Amino acid sequence: MLRPLEDLRWDNSFARLPEAFYQQVRPTPLPDPTLVAFNPDVAALLDLDPGEGGRREFVAALNGELALAGTQPIAAIYAGHQFGVWVPELGDGRAILLGEIVNSRHQRWDVQLKGAGLTRFSRMGDGRAVLRSTVREYLAGEAMHGLGISTTRSLAIIGSDAPVFREQVETGAVLVRVAPTHVRFGTFELFASRGQDAALRQLADYVIDMHFAHLLTLPAPARYVAWYREVVARTARLMAAWTAVGFAHGVLNTDNMSILGISLDYGPYAWMDAYDRGFIPNHSDPAGRYAFDQQPRVGLWNCARLGEALLPLLDQDVPAASRGTAVVAALEEYRGTFEAEMDQLMRAKLGLVGTEAGDVVLVADLLALLHDTRADYTRFFRALSHHAAGDSTRDVQRNDALRAEVPALERLTAWLARYTQRVLRESIDVTARHGRMLGTNPKFVLRNWMAQEAIAGAQAGNYAPIEELRRLLQTPFDEHPAAERYAERPPEWAREIAVSCSS
Ligand code: AMP
Ligand code: MG
Repeated sequence: MLRPLEDLRWDNSFARLPEAFYQQVRPTPLPDPTLVAFNPDVAALLDLDPGEGGRREFVAALNGELALAGTQPIAAIYAGHQFGVWVPELGDGRAILLGEIVNSRHQRWDVQLKGAGLTRFSRMGDGRAVLRSTVREYLAGEAMHGLGISTTRSLAIIGSDAPVFREQVETGAVLVRVAPTHVRFGTFELFASRGQDAALRQLADYVIDMHFAHLLTLPAPARYVAWYREVVARTARLMAAWTAVGFAHGVLNTDNMSILGISLDYGPYAWMDAYDRGFIPNHSDPAGRYAFDQQPRVGLWNCARLGEALLPLLDQDVPAASRGTAVVAALEEYRGTFEAEMDQLMRAKLGLVGTEAGDVVLVADLLALLHDTRADYTRFFRALSHHAAGDSTRDVQRNDALRAEVPALERLTAWLARYTQRVLRESIDVTARHGRMLGTNPKFVLRNWMAQEAIAGAQAGNYAPIEELRRLLQTPFDEHPAAERYAERPPEWAREIAVSCSS
């Protein structure tokens, strides 16, 4: 059931927590706002009639000029480890949570205005976001969702001519971001670091109540232990999902880690073009703390910081000699969860249904080949999907698509021979495998150059490319013949793109 803006049902359950959890603060409107992007799919999640995007009141409300009945704007407090360094107080420095829209299916969606002005947590910042970074975050959420990976998404982008200074002068914008919750690892770290155990427990109870209701039947502290284990497992699976699609987040600070294990806070991220395990998407991370192949490790490190923060809850009623064991046990499960998930995802990419002992090495050898030759990750697996569908004895020398991606013919031929042998022992036929692989290996990912083109368009007042990419990335496994250029080799200038934290 779709409704007009004014008829949406708002609540703000987070604002019912004590004042220590947030600041009540109103958005500061941007001058002369315009609608840059509107996402009808997210509107549908909220029961919002997509026609509402065209109304002046819609832009005014999300620009903070009009207060919608039932909203209760707040900026949440949190802390975090940024690049490994403890920062005792952070918080929504430029994001304001209006509340949750409760839809007709009783789902609650946080609606947050990112770039809506100063808050108590703005520190040295200006409380603003620039058009460039909002376009990147808007498209990334949709691309991730299209790939079947859990993520925050966005309803809209509001633009303005208001100048905002970054490395150069840009224009301000507001991203209307939507998520089941924006609570982060860092939210827990804040109360733990202050020794505020009651607040820590209140926050955990809130999150479990709202998002882990299946654990409510367990008594405390077993409930907290089961919950922490689940957060660790979800984090491990998210790191695996990113790895399998060649995604590097870029800033995996604990304040950017969702307590739900969903993709959160897109900044200097990238889907890789050329496969390079040590790929660093973030220009401001020269040491590569958040390099592509560091993510699984960092995910674990971040879970360890969360575990430390939760010790007062997890060790409740636990004898001194056994304290910390629940955290250690959960962390010990991380690697197994990650590897099992990775194994499953990579075997799916190869179109394998059965499991054989040699599969792990088959995958590892392929990734080594792709790394050594800097093959295009997405294009290779898409080409492999077609190759695997053909006559399995077909001469690889005649398969131009694979050869073009992997300029090491002997190694490629040798690997494909092993792969072909392996595939012959599968129970499913060629057609079924082809279909499965095409549904697993996307033809399209959001490459940096594509986002860059959409940004350049938007900066010149042309918002059509944003909408074109949104639609394309919704179904990245389909062929989309009219969008062929997005599946081609990236243009030369794509190598020069440098994305930094400044957004
Ligand atoms: P991020 O790197 O975007 O995850 O941001 C880290 C912290 O800095 C968060 O607490 C943000 O709210 C804050 N922050 C980032 N950019 C700004 C800005 N332009 N103004 C105020 N606070 C900001
Ligand atoms: Mg952040």
